[in-house]
Amino acid sequence: MAKLIYEFSEGNMSMRDLLGGKGANLAEMTRLGLPVPPGFTLTTVACHEYQQTHALSESLLQELDQALDHLSQMTHKQFNGTSQPLLVSVRSGAAISMPGMMDTILNIGLNDQTVTALATLTHNERFAYDSYRRLLAMFGNVVYGIEEATFDQVLTAAKQAHGYQSDLELTAADLKQIVTAFKAIYQQAGKGEFPQSPKDQLLAAINAVFESWNNHRAQVYRQQNHISESLGTAVNVQEMVFGNAGDRSGTGVAFTRNPATGEKKVFGEYLLNAQGEDVVAGIRTPQSIEVLQAEMPVIYDQLMTIAEKLENHYQDMQDLEFTIENGQLFLLQARDGKRTPYAAVKIAVDQVAEGLITKAQALLRVSPESVSAMLHPEFDPAVLAQQTPLTTGLPASPGAATGQAYFTAEDAKQAADNGTKVVLIRQDTSPEDIDGMIVSQAIVTSRGGMTSHAAVVARGMGATGVVGAHEITVDYAAKVAKVGDQVISEGDWVSVDGTSGELYLGQIKTTSAGVKGELSVLLDWAKDVAQMGVYTNADTPQDFQKALDFGADGIGLTRTEHMFFKPERLVQMRRLILAEDAQGRAEPLAQLLQMQQEDFYQLYKLAGDKEVTIRLLDPPLHEFLPHDEEEIQAVAQQIHLAPEKLRERTSALKELNPMLGHRGDRLAVTFPDIYQMQVKAIMKAVIRLHDEGLEVHPHIMIPLTDSRSEMAWVRQLVTDEIDTMVAESDLHLKYAVGTMMEMPRACVTADQVAEVSDFFSFGTNDLTQLTFGYSRDDVGSFMPEYIKQGILPADPFQTVDIEGVGALMEIAIEKGRQTKPTLPIGVCGEVGGDPASINFFNAIGITYVSCSPYRVPVARLAAAQAAL
Ligand code: PEP
Ligand code: MG
Repeated sequence: MAKLIYEFSEGNMSMRDLLGGKGANLAEMTRLGLPVPPGFTLTTVACHEYQQTHALSESLLQELDQALDHLSQMTHKQFNGTSQPLLVSVRSGAAISMPGMMDTILNIGLNDQTVTALATLTHNERFAYDSYRRLLAMFGNVVYGIEEATFDQVLTAAKQAHGYQSDLELTAADLKQIVTAFKAIYQQAGKGEFPQSPKDQLLAAINAVFESWNNHRAQVYRQQNHISESLGTAVNVQEMVFGNAGDRSGTGVAFTRNPATGEKKVFGEYLLNAQGEDVVAGIRTPQSIEVLQAEMPVIYDQLMTIAEKLENHYQDMQDLEFTIENGQLFLLQARDGKRTPYAAVKIAVDQVAEGLITKAQALLRVSPESVSAMLHPEFDPAVLAQQTPLTTGLPASPGAATGQAYFTAEDAKQAADNGTKVVLIRQDTSPEDIDGMIVSQAIVTSRGGMTSHAAVVARGMGATGVVGAHEITVDYAAKVAKVGDQVISEGDWVSVDGTSGELYLGQIKTTSAGVKGELSVLLDWAKDVAQMGVYTNADTPQDFQKALDFGADGIGLTRTEHMFFKPERLVQMRRLILAEDAQGRAEPLAQLLQMQQEDFYQLYKLAGDKEVTIRLLDPPLHEFLPHDEEEIQAVAQQIHLAPEKLRERTSALKELNPMLGHRGDRLAVTFPDIYQMQVKAIMKAVIRLHDEGLEVHPHIMIPLTDSRSEMAWVRQLVTDEIDTMVAESDLHLKYAVGTMMEMPRACVTADQVAEVSDFFSFGTNDLTQLTFGYSRDDVGSFMPEYIKQGILPADPFQTVDIEGVGALMEIAIEKGRQTKPTLPIGVCGEVGGDPASINFFNAIGITYVSCSPYRVPVARLAAAQAAL
């Protein structure tokens, strides 16, 4: 039978799946000889067993007794001991870290007897009762679901009655009374007596932690972070050490590098005379770790040495939890530290320079999505210079965000569901607020430090975050926040700068960030490693320039129809479509030729020697036509046509299934002069650039091809036009005419299609539409439900469907390269910028992906990761 409990001394860091991240790391640190209080881990297998029956199995209970006996021996303490009481913590710990989402109970083992034993042993009655009241509150909340606020109210009332500012002023006598009041809360809540047996407390706590895997906030977090429901959590039971044992005790967290900026300097915070959750919960604003250097230099040095040792050992930035008990340092946790996208990139690049990791490791350290977050906007510096901040807090998570103020997670969620951009402003946040935090552009708190819940979650989500802005007071009942006499009411616009920690009233304009500094270094390494090229989909010089700045290798798709939607062009396009015959089309075609020629000239000029793939007109013609009577009247006037005539033509062009109708290369067959005009425009641009000294090799792409004969027909049309133009000039032109692969029929006959194509480019938007039979414009009505019900793992228009669409792609690649072994094959549908899809494309031999400019840096990193 599987072993269900491992002592820390029995495990190691490779056992994450079984022991959870926390358990595996506690075991590893124990192995490294670091000061870790002894304990043991109930495995994720035990959790799975529990989830079946919602009860602890006999074999688990037996192992638990043995583990407890051994812990007693090691610590020389006993459960219920009257001289040396054993107290333990019970903490969750899944294989993938889910900070604060599941439950923890500290000080288990305290009861009416052991509390006095602890008081006598430590000569500190205050400490003993402080620990007891904490147990009562945590146990009540976690095991019985009694609201934390119910306990907090009693605590606050006691402080107010004595005129105390902080918890630290509560005396032993006060705390005894609080303990009595807390016990009464159990009675009032109908939960009976607080269990006095330490063993009963422990069993109830273990049950509750296993249960907490399925609590609402944990589920939301898993969904948000794509963590599998089936993993389960381990449970760690560990001897307590006390940060609340007096002034030479404390508790804190430290990162081996700055988690917001990535700076190589230990960054941390601690609270003296406090216990675990106090720092993270943001209840008291902690001291910076530098103060510890002055207050307890020996401990500080020891902590720095451990930080360095751990970072070198794990070869990554670590997040440590420590406790100091009467001048002795203990480590309670180490894990890879959560960091902002900026910090992730800087740390990875710095660690390569330090020789700690390789370039390949660095490339794998940064998630492609976090690159996308780095391209989020910054406040326009010129505008910012003219503004005065309302107040400043700690810069917990960089970025710039503008939104409307809301003060509760619920209100924030509701507003965001209605399309409002939300900034959540609170005194502090707790895991219960996760729903509201996820939808917020920025999170601002008045209390808490850089490691408070709000800060950690904001960084994890890539949301802008400012914490500990202590000038802010929030009145939840009145739904206002105040800074001095300035009032922020619900719905007021505010702007938050997570890089400087400043909060402004009103909306501030943002500018887009670029690829610079360490990100640029990392993406250069990515280029060296990647097998696939990364092109862009761009229709304007502005978009193309952006993509070039982001490192695009060329253009994989120019949707020429997008060039026709400017008002002056739309007129010509309409005249063209509505003309009765070739003669009527000649004049608008001549006009469009001029305009298109200039479009292509600009793109080619920007591209230099990079490839520019121009796709000839694709969409159904009626897209260019008026849709209602009002538009008909306006257009009729604009193009000097009688409204009746226009109505007649429009209805003649109307189709029942336009996306399956008269579009793409079918237009070329019925209206060859449109494609001829576009090719002529391309050639005129090419000749003009040739005259200016730039040799362009045009890549012309035909949309919607479904057979060899169709492609051959259109190819002939295109090459005849090219030949005519070349004959009139002194060009020695190299060109390529290729096809999009978006019809299943083209994929399965790709060997034939390749005979008349110089390249393929998968249009996965249409290919997915036609493979599933899902209208790409209408999937919104059912797709979310398909994903929620698990019928589809993801939206196939966003992440390629490997089994279906992917299989067709593989057939097309294999057949296409049977005919032409070196056939270049790209992907230019939406999934071309999706990291998971890119990984698949790399595996099946795609030559390049093409995506929108802002996805280019993401795709570059994903392409490198796919190759590693
Ligand atoms: C496609 O179908 O994937 C494609 C790139 O073309 P469009 O989106 O313009 O139809
Ligand atoms: Mg298409």
